[in-house]
Amino acid sequence: MKILLTNDDGVRAPGVWAAARALRQVGEVFVVAPEMEQSGVGTALTLHSAVKAAPAPVDPGLPAGPGHIEDGDALHPVVAYSVAGTPADSCVLGLESLVGAVDLVVSGINAGSNLGWDVVVSGTVGAAIQGYVRGYPTIAISVGAVHNPQFEGAARLLRLLARRLSQAPASSGFFLNINVPSIPPERISGVEVTRLGHRSYAESVREEGSGTDKGYRISRNRPVSGDPQPGTDIWALKRDLISITPLGIILGHREMTPEIEGLVSGLSAQLLDRPD
Ligand code: MN
Repeated sequence: MKILLTNDDGVRAPGVWAAARALRQVGEVFVVAPEMEQSGVGTALTLHSAVKAAPAPVDPGLPAGPGHIEDGDALHPVVAYSVAGTPADSCVLGLESLVGAVDLVVSGINAGSNLGWDVVVSGTVGAAIQGYVRGYPTIAISVGAVHNPQFEGAARLLRLLARRLSQAPASSGFFLNINVPSIPPERISGVEVTRLGHRSYAESVREEGSGTDKGYRISRNRPVSGDPQPGTDIWALKRDLISITPLGIILGHREMTPEIEGLVSGLSAQLLDRPD
């Protein structure tokens, strides 16, 4: 099994290497990830300049180039690239050039949850989308803490899922957004297949400086309170459940069609019969 591993926290982030160690027991792992942290850049692609990619150390502290990751007593060869671009750039370069076709695309393990409507802002999900649109089985995976994240539960889950997929390959591509509580695995309550909740984090804006130095700092640090609906990803994570949400790329909202037909009714006659 060939696995492309990417993320938005950067190629040196501990989460991607926790995933690499877990997945190396199931298949051949290729890490292609941004040189710098890129959380929150969503699906952004670099289209107006060339994107550089260079061999990266498989462990921060080791020299760049193909290397090995330790796994108990075993040493596993891993190839890693550092991309001077976005998470989505990294996934595209991996699949189209540096690595080629794979059996599984994984983005993560992200430090911090990606729940509900946050998936459209998330660089972790933004990278994964590039796997899904190419028809690959794709997993975006995050743990619910930015500070002192505990990756063990998420890494174990990844290994188990990858093993299942290597034994019984999926008949078609799919896209899973997984959120794992950042707690020791033995305290996790279970696994729940969920649907996306609504808004989970809101922005706050702080003014900084004055005169020509004046700026506005945007932070996504306000959890939107309220009781999350049962069955949603937000609800599951609050209950210390692992949330697995199947995603598609459907932003259309058919329920709104009648109301919008009312809004535009007669508009084409008005538009085509302009008095000027
Ligand atoms: Mn991130």
